[in-house]
Amino acid sequence: MAYFAKDNSQNVKVVVRLRPLSDGEYNRDAFLVVKCSSKKDISIKEKKYSFDHVFGPECSQLDVYECVVSPMIPDIISGYNCTIFAYGATGTGKTFTMTGGNTNSKQDWRTDPTAGIIPRSAINLFEELELIQNSKYTVRVSFLELYNEEVRDLLTDDDRVPPLNVFNDPNNKGSVWIQGVKEVTVCHRNDIFDLLEKGNLKRMFAPTLMNHNSSRSHTVFSMTVNISEISSSGRESIKSGKLNLVDLAGSENIARSGAKDIRAKELSNINKSLLTLGRVIHALSESKKPQHIPYRDSKLTRILQDSLGGRTKTCVIATLSPAHTAYDESLSTLEYAHRARDI
Ligand code: ADP
Ligand code: MG
Repeated sequence: MAYFAKDNSQNVKVVVRLRPLSDGEYNRDAFLVVKCSSKKDISIKEKKYSFDHVFGPECSQLDVYECVVSPMIPDIISGYNCTIFAYGATGTGKTFTMTGGNTNSKQDWRTDPTAGIIPRSAINLFEELELIQNSKYTVRVSFLELYNEEVRDLLTDDDRVPPLNVFNDPNNKGSVWIQGVKEVTVCHRNDIFDLLEKGNLKRMFAPTLMNHNSSRSHTVFSMTVNISEISSSGRESIKSGKLNLVDLAGSENIARSGAKDIRAKELSNINKSLLTLGRVIHALSESKKPQHIPYRDSKLTRILQDSLGGRTKTCVIATLSPAHTAYDESLSTLEYAHRARDI
């Protein structure tokens, strides 16, 4: 049985992942300004921060998976909603952490050491589900993109569908209903891989989404599990849990609020959603019962409301470049992550 701490703060974690210098940074003689001093401590120039965990440049995709995601799988199977966010500037490793792999060729996610959290959790989830006796289960997948406070479905075959409307669910308080969202029932991890690839291609090439820069959108990949168990006395019980994996818009949009190449409305929407997310996570990580959680201030927190707060688990993975050329962005990311969970 999953253990949930009574103290809310235990169910919210903020970790940091520092990537290695890229070839480009190396070739431009970048020097290192961010250093991991322990498994929980990181410094940028002279400033020090502590987090629930710090992953250094030597940490593998498997290390991140085993520390952050793998403990959540039994919780999801027990009927809880869990969410992982990748937060950071463009080019720091959000998509690498969430999806990973080599986007230019057909993947074999099972053997690829660079496979990220989404393919690894698909594999792990099915492994664990197959072990449960006397039960039937279904897994459903949805894949959404939020751009400029509009929700687009990355799994639909119709490129012309307008943005989806979001309503409060009258039958389920604290939950929203996304009208017309495609939820695909999957029977095998390979079906999940196919949906991941289909959605990623659509994110890059769909005509209705042209003209938009993927660093300015959020994607939400969700797997919902329903398990019906028959007890020895013949009673049936149904549990439903969910894992949301969120690749956020580039946080440089916050850091460089003077950016010229970005429309004011887009910028204010990205700012609003990332800042609201920070406030929601901060409210959830307070050990006393939060007074007000501002879910409704952005589309992102609104559609994730049933997975943020109450009996849920949340982790933010803040991604960073170590290079001096990324100093401002890295400082801004560490400040954001630190404010989200002041430990
Ligand atoms: P983002 O999604 O934040 O814009 P990406 O995930 O696309 O950034 O990463 C940018 C580049 O850095 C990619 O080529 C990616 O493969 C590489 N990269 C990111 N994180 C790591 C890491 N921890 N180890 C090795 N390469 C990484
Ligand atoms: Mg990306």
